[in-house]
Amino acid sequence: MTKFIIVTGGVLSGLGKGVVTSSLGKLLKANGFSVTAIKIDPYLNCDAGTMNPFEHGEVFVLDDGTEADLDLGNYERFLDIDLCGDDNITTGKVYRSVIEKERAGKYLGKTVQIIPHITDEINRRIWKVADETDADIVLVEIGGTIGDIESMPFMEASRQLHMEVGEESNDFIFIHTTLIPVLDVVGEQKTKPTQHSVQALREIGIQPDIIVGRSPKKLEESTKRKISLFCDVPKEAVISSPDAESIYQVPLILEEEGFIDYVMKKLNLGEPEHDIHEWKEFLDNYENPTEKVKIALVGKYCELEDAYKSHVEAFHHCQAEAKTEINIKWIESEELEENEPKKLLDDVDGILIPGGFGNRGIEGKINAVNFARENKVPILTICLGFQVSVIEFCRNVLGLEEANSSEFNEKTPHPVIDLLPMQRGIDMMGGTMRLGSEKILIEEGTRAHEIYGSTEIKERHRHRYEVNLDYKDEMEEKGIKFSGKSPNKKRMEILEVEDHPFFIGCQFHPEFTSRPMKPAPLFLEFIKATMEQKNK
Ligand code: GLN
Repeated sequence: MTKFIIVTGGVLSGLGKGVVTSSLGKLLKANGFSVTAIKIDPYLNCDAGTMNPFEHGEVFVLDDGTEADLDLGNYERFLDIDLCGDDNITTGKVYRSVIEKERAGKYLGKTVQIIPHITDEINRRIWKVADETDADIVLVEIGGTIGDIESMPFMEASRQLHMEVGEESNDFIFIHTTLIPVLDVVGEQKTKPTQHSVQALREIGIQPDIIVGRSPKKLEESTKRKISLFCDVPKEAVISSPDAESIYQVPLILEEEGFIDYVMKKLNLGEPEHDIHEWKEFLDNYENPTEKVKIALVGKYCELEDAYKSHVEAFHHCQAEAKTEINIKWIESEELEENEPKKLLDDVDGILIPGGFGNRGIEGKINAVNFARENKVPILTICLGFQVSVIEFCRNVLGLEEANSSEFNEKTPHPVIDLLPMQRGIDMMGGTMRLGSEKILIEEGTRAHEIYGSTEIKERHRHRYEVNLDYKDEMEEKGIKFSGKSPNKKRMEILEVEDHPFFIGCQFHPEFTSRPMKPAPLFLEFIKATMEQKNK
């Protein structure tokens, strides 16, 4: 029998509910249980693919090509599992299926309503994940905050799910994560907002089993007692989640707080073994690096670090693995159009050009690539970055001054990057790119082969444009090696610039599959190359 843990949020959003949920998953996994996670996003978008990274952070791509909320990335990294589209439920997806069923006449003349039709569809989706994954425990995080109009059907559905599983059973718990603010003047931890949010939960028939209090410091005993009393949970069910220096500390903090003990007791899962030595070792390496490198990340959404979340995480994984502190110098690519690149890039040990869309800042990225190529600074370029590397090479080495991507200039005489054939004629934006994990063949004897140690890999994609094969031979003659290709050899996937300490570009996104203790090979070798260059 699958057990369910539903996590809701109170007081305000952005509390780190996702980190609390994934840390709990980590602790459950460490105790030998199979765990999967569902993220519910109460917005009307069918997926995160059409959302602006400035507003919402990065779009995280899953193996099956789903463009999901970045929280799914947290789950994959903490739980070291691959999720799929079913694990991200949005209001848009739910309504779309209900409306499609209504149009198909499947409701047999009934009035179609939020309760029971929408709530049934939500729970059908949750059960589907439970049945198909056969996980011991399904974690369900309901995005947003109690009281939001959008999240109401999901709250109601989870109340019904609780009834269905059995109110008295040991197979279901509600965890409520809230904010415990501290009044600066007196330094007192205030529980009133939590009391109110629990009250709001109770009004809709949900009594939390556990309350996790987010606060700058650990909760005082008196704070816990108050919450216990007013919110009707035992004191041991009030867990502090103080601010942590890094998200990797959170599982250990929560473990120390007795979180896993109480969860396992409530779910009748026996005594925890508390064996997370691997994670501790990872954290220890992460926190005690012996060297240091500075990497420029040249992007267009640098004001919001979350827009490059998976890149930052991949660097963290490398930091632990290579025991090297990785400092990111955030550079808006437009600044490289206004300034001499040397001015901004002279003090860095390596350059990363991530993916992106649209014209803004492209010339700055080209300048950064040019600087790295000519000055032999290690560089890793990803997706749009890869395409920009091709443009730079064609302009400055092949002498095709107007070389460009047809994404940026439809009339360029040299569309060295051009629309994928399968993209022609597509005018719907959502979910229509080349998406998801695909096989790539790697040529033996190349740097990429050395790095991956294999002639066949799989990596995740998200793009509409690709290298135009008309220019491939000329590029290869002049010093670019396409070392990774699609199985039919029509799609260029990895490029290497010869006679350079480390210049690798990839059309796919290695950042999405980097995990703690298993950093993405391209990231790790890139960092190692920057260390080597620095020490020279
Ligand atoms: N805009 C480019 C394309 O669509 C690159 C996409 C990306 O970097 N994810 O091909």
